[in-house]
Amino acid sequence: MSRRTGFSFALVGCIATVAVIGISLRTASGEEAGSKEVVRNLGGGHYAYMGMSNSGFFVSDEGILVVDALKSPRHAKALLAEIRKISDKPIVYLVNTHWHWDHTFGNGVFPEATKIYSTKACKERLEKDGPPKWETLSKETPDDYEGAELVIPEVTFVDEETLTIGGRKLLVKYIGRGHTDGDAVVVDAESRVIYAGDLLFNGVHPYMADGYSKDWIETLEALHALAQPEPEKWTVVPGHGEPTTPSLAKDIAEYIRVLRSEVKKALDAGTPEKEIPGSIKLPEKYADLKYPWFIEMSVGRIIKEMK
Ligand SMILES: [Zn+2]
Repeated sequence: MSRRTGFSFALVGCIATVAVIGISLRTASGEEAGSKEVVRNLGGGHYAYMGMSNSGFFVSDEGILVVDALKSPRHAKALLAEIRKISDKPIVYLVNTHWHWDHTFGNGVFPEATKIYSTKACKERLEKDGPPKWETLSKETPDDYEGAELVIPEVTFVDEETLTIGGRKLLVKYIGRGHTDGDAVVVDAESRVIYAGDLLFNGVHPYMADGYSKDWIETLEALHALAQPEPEKWTVVPGHGEPTTPSLAKDIAEYIRVLRSEVKKALDAGTPEKEIPGSIKLPEKYADLKYPWFIEMSVGRIIKEMK
C-alpha cells in the first residue's frame, strides 16, 4: 500500500471534425499500450493523448498537469513515456474528470509527489465501486494491472479549484451533473482549451448508464458558456474521440434530447420497457458513431429517470 489511500489485492493484482491549430500528429509507442494511442499538440503547452479513452496534459517550465489516467496501469505507463518525450518536469497534478475505470485505473503509476484531484462525488464513488471493478479487470487482463494498485484521489473539491502551474491558471470545475454526478472539467482560459472528460464524446455514442440525462443537457450549456469569448477559437478535449470545437457540446445536447424524446414517445405509447431499446430509431446522422451498444444502456437509464 502506498502513502496514498489505495487498495491492494492479493492477486496484484462523437461527430465533429478536428479543428485544432498547428497540430503535430504522431503515433505513440503502440508496443507499450498495445493499441493505437495518438498524441496531439494543441498549442499553448497542451496535449491530447487519445486511446480507447483520452487523457491530456499541460506542460510548463515548472511542471506538468495531467487530466485522467486511462484504463490501466500499463496504459498510464505508456502515457507517462510519451510525456517524458516532451518534458522532464515533475508531474505536479493529476485530475480525474470522473470515477469511471477507463479514466482512473492508471492513477497508481503516477509519482507519489503527484497530487490527485477530483470532485468529492468522484472520490466517493471510486472508493465504493472501484475495488470490485479493479479486481475483475485485474483477473481478466492481469498484464495490464500487475504491480500496481488502485489509487483514490486525495484532494477533492466541491465547486472549483484553481491550480497555478508555470504561471498559468488552470480552473478545475464542477459544472453540474451529466455523465456522472461528479464530472470535472479543466479550463485554461489563456490558451482557450477545455478538457471535458466524458461530458463530451466525439464520434462515439454518449454513455449514459451512470448519467443524469436531463441535467446533462443543462451542464453542456454551462460547458459551452465557459468557452467565451469566441467559442470557435477554443478547443475541447472530449473523454473519447478527437479534440474539436465547443460546438460538440451542442451536438451532444441535441443527441440527448433526441434520445430522451424517443424514449418518452415509447413510454407514452405503452411499449413494454424491455422492448424500448430495440424500438428506438435514431436519426441517420448518428449511424456511424462507435459503440452502438451504449444506446441500450443509455435508454435503460433514461427509462429509470423518467419513471
Ligand atoms: Zn465515463
